[in-house]
Amino acid sequence: MAAVSEPFRIALGTRGVFRGNLTAMTLFPTTIAGSLPKPFWLAEPNRLWAPWRFQGDDLARAKADATLLVLKLQEDAGIDIVSDGEQSRQHFVHGFLEFVDGIDFSEKVPMGIRADRYTAMVPVVRGPLSLKGRVHGGEARIARAHTTRKLKITMPGPMTICDTIADEHYGDRATMAMAVADLLNAEARALEADGVDVIQFDEPAFNVFMDEVKDWGIAALERAADGLKCATAVHICYGYGIKENIDWKATLGAEWRQYEAIFPAIARSRIGQVSLEAKNSHVPMDLIALLEGKDVLIGVIDVASDKVETPEDVAETIEQAAKFVPKERIQPCTNCGMAPMRWETAFAKLEALGAGARLARERLG
Ligand code: ZN
Repeated sequence: MAAVSEPFRIALGTRGVFRGNLTAMTLFPTTIAGSLPKPFWLAEPNRLWAPWRFQGDDLARAKADATLLVLKLQEDAGIDIVSDGEQSRQHFVHGFLEFVDGIDFSEKVPMGIRADRYTAMVPVVRGPLSLKGRVHGGEARIARAHTTRKLKITMPGPMTICDTIADEHYGDRATMAMAVADLLNAEARALEADGVDVIQFDEPAFNVFMDEVKDWGIAALERAADGLKCATAVHICYGYGIKENIDWKATLGAEWRQYEAIFPAIARSRIGQVSLEAKNSHVPMDLIALLEGKDVLIGVIDVASDKVETPEDVAETIEQAAKFVPKERIQPCTNCGMAPMRWETAFAKLEALGAGARLARERLG
């Protein structure tokens, strides 16, 4: 099952200390959007936001074990820039908010999110927001100590967070987003100090509130990434492969041009990398040419389908992307997080991702 490591990977250095520039060494370095399914013993499988199987110290131990397991499987699949797989959080936004003071989780209120695509019960901001302490330090340090690959940690972006909480304190979303950005920035700087190589902010809301992205969304994102010397990324997708998103996508027409409205502004931003959805989407590939100067994380793996891509499929998507972006700037990636997928399917898809990138290197290298 496992793909054989390429020789250069073995020579990367002592465990946990390699901080060199892998992008410069490898054409088409592979990565993932962020989340992976959790092992059956950590949380109920095939379920988004599934409850944990353990509590307290047992839960902390189980999360650490799961993090090591998904690191190993990513390495075996040929993923160059690995992630903790978000094994330590239940939800990609609430996993951060749990560590924020000023939010009342005791009385959630219904709110239409992503412009009323779905209604969720959300917590309420009742006072100034502040961090209780470190958010992702535990998983970042465990991952850093056990892989020599480049390490990515993801966090929700300020606009997406503000679209997932009800405000009864700040009065307007832009002001609240700046406050959220300051918290994200504090955690991001700490993650960088932990040895994290790529900090990615997930902003699915960028594909929904295109005017606000230009008004304040990018400013908030830059504030979250302020002062970082490691690579910075923003992930903008059409959502997990869940029913609400699949139904929404069906309303978007034959061509999805949302990216066209925001990519020029993102290209002018200080964020270094942009992760986007491509495989099986209706995004015209030529839109990525708008991301001049950015590393482009091309989604070559569909997370809304159980059909496992072939290496040939992956290589073809990379070749398509290479028509519009310099090949040195392409990182083959998944379309979105894989948290709701079946375990076997998700890792089979990562194998295809690794194998497809090797194929593309042979053809275009
Ligand atoms: Zn996504």
